[in-house]
Amino acid sequence: MKKIIIRYSEIALKKGNRKRFENKLAENIKWTLKGEDFKLTRTWGRFFITNFENEDFFTERLKKVPGISNFSVAHIIEDRDLNKIATKAIELLSKDYDSTTKDFFKVDTKRIDKRYPKKSSEISKEVADIILPNFENFIVNLRKPNITVGVELYENDALVFINRHRGVDGLPVGSSGKMTLLLSGGIDSPVAGYKIITRGVKLNAVYYHSTPYTSEGAKLKVIELATILSKFQNNYLDLFIVHFTEIQRAVRKECRASYGTVLDRRYMVKIADVIAEKTLHQALITGESIGQVASQTIENITSVDVISRLPILRPLIGNNKLEITAIAQKIETYETSIKPFDDCCVLFAPKAPVTKVKIEYLDKEGTRLNEDKLIEDALLKTKVIKIRRNQIDEITYSEYLEGLR
Ligand code: ATP
Ligand code: MG
Repeated sequence: MKKIIIRYSEIALKKGNRKRFENKLAENIKWTLKGEDFKLTRTWGRFFITNFENEDFFTERLKKVPGISNFSVAHIIEDRDLNKIATKAIELLSKDYDSTTKDFFKVDTKRIDKRYPKKSSEISKEVADIILPNFENFIVNLRKPNITVGVELYENDALVFINRHRGVDGLPVGSSGKMTLLLSGGIDSPVAGYKIITRGVKLNAVYYHSTPYTSEGAKLKVIELATILSKFQNNYLDLFIVHFTEIQRAVRKECRASYGTVLDRRYMVKIADVIAEKTLHQALITGESIGQVASQTIENITSVDVISRLPILRPLIGNNKLEITAIAQKIETYETSIKPFDDCCVLFAPKAPVTKVKIEYLDKEGTRLNEDKLIEDALLKTKVIKIRRNQIDEITYSEYLEGLR
């Protein structure tokens, strides 16, 4: 019989709030595994899953649950007999390692039941002594092993395992409130979203679509990115596709060309503010990083901040492109992000964008537009993509608001 040992680190440190965080994590684990048969229990500062069948499915899902630092699929040894523990370890190791390569090896024992008559180090040594003759090229190395046999001794039984899957760490989704991500098809904003999700935040996303200037392909790409992000928050995410065409047209027609990008950004934020208000979200998130492109200067960033009702968080502000790309590859958004579809900002980008915008000028440019009407019309044509586990549904913004009541 197998048992999954789920370990969490950061939430274990939150003394006063520990129960709340643990409850949230348990809830999220159950939610992400919904539909499967299993039993979840909690003791000794960790979770256990038993009575499950489809190990690969469980492993894939648990790797994407924020709050889990790592987990192992272990075998249960009913009577704590060290010989049986070693025999099981040999069986597991034989499957994964041949005896021809040199490997650094260690047995790592935890006595959860402190009354067990031998010390952890003695148990490790005894088990290792039984294993080693079977693997000629194993060299014991307690400091830097590349193969570790884990042994845990409980009151009535023992667990043995050779794997430790890394989780995404951080805090359980839903423990730090709700926020709205401005999600473009680029590399940065999905990474910004991921970083915030793993701080325990539940996200919605907003994408500004300028059809027919931006293609259906660009929209599908953003839906794909949102779906990847949804996997880190229990396969659940609402993506707002805002009809941004008329706003961009009006800005280009009425306002000074060099101000186009910053004005667009202001409207994006104003619309996100409205949506966030309806959904009771507490902040906006963007993928901006200072100095990355001409428009991402402190002056331009400030000029957008001053008109936002909600705080705008920029988790990548101090990251360079290499760091951001590395995360994008790890979370598997990169391949989608680099698909060649145009973004509205690029298509409408002025030849010489202003880099140090003056807020007074910007405010004045903005007054040329019938702002309230433009925003209202954009929202009327907005669609909401509801991403739920195995299903994606598209509804209108007003249907969505109806559903919130
Ligand atoms: P990204 O890689 O996230 O597209 P970027 O480096 O291309 O970022 P910009 O195009 O200047 O930078 O956009 C800055 C931020 O503004 C993005 O990270 C995103 O949060 C938001 N943004 C830009 N365009 C859109 C859009 N069409 N829909 C939603 N958000 C957008
Ligand atoms: Mg972009």
